[in-house]
Amino acid sequence: MIRADAALMGADPAQPAERSAKAKQLPPASRTDSTGEHLAYVALGANLADPLAQVRAAGRALADVPECRLLRLSSLYRSAPVGNRSIRGQADFINAVAALHTRLTPSQLLDALFAIERLFGRRREYHHAPRTLDLDLLLYDDQTVDSQRLRVPHPRMHLRAFVIAPLLEIAPQALIPGRGSAAAWLPAVSMQGIARLAD
Ligand code: ADP
Ligand code: MG
Repeated sequence: MIRADAALMGADPAQPAERSAKAKQLPPASRTDSTGEHLAYVALGANLADPLAQVRAAGRALADVPECRLLRLSSLYRSAPVGNRSIRGQADFINAVAALHTRLTPSQLLDALFAIERLFGRRREYHHAPRTLDLDLLLYDDQTVDSQRLRVPHPRMHLRAFVIAPLLEIAPQALIPGRGSAAAWLPAVSMQGIARLAD
């Protein structure tokens, strides 16, 4: 087994303080602080072309997004594909959740996530196609966004063990606007196959 956390945090030399801060838990998403930074949570997932390496590298890419600061990266999790028959036949996914401080708007942050997906060679052949890398904006402060291309909170996040488990690891108090505490959704997703990769 890999040392998931060590690999991820160690891959980011710009953030050495994060290692000692790792045990600290983040507060629930709240409104912009006095510095103009927003607290956002992003889900990372991959099931093609060495997904472990893809998710680790994506963590580093998130740390490099302008106007963003990577606060925490969860452990890596291995999950069985969830969804219709076409997705259930695919390879297992590697997943993680990142917490960021950002000055970007939700829409700008989504653009940055799409840019990273493109960098990693993601092909959008069809909805739910196997992907090199999938980045979803889960939460942005306690805001709700409902536009054609962006919905925050992510509309299916509370139904996915591979989102809820890593999110609770780094933010046990996380609140999902309109759905209550993230922790309350854990029993509902506990039947989904997911394994935290050993440190
Ligand atoms: P999914 O992540 O649901 O498996 P995709 O990554 O293919 O599927 O995304 C499909 C569309 O979802 C994208 O074109 C994007 O515009 C839209 N979308 C809506 N809300 C979000 C969000 N919170 N994060 C990421 N994409 C989103
Ligand atoms: Mg997506």
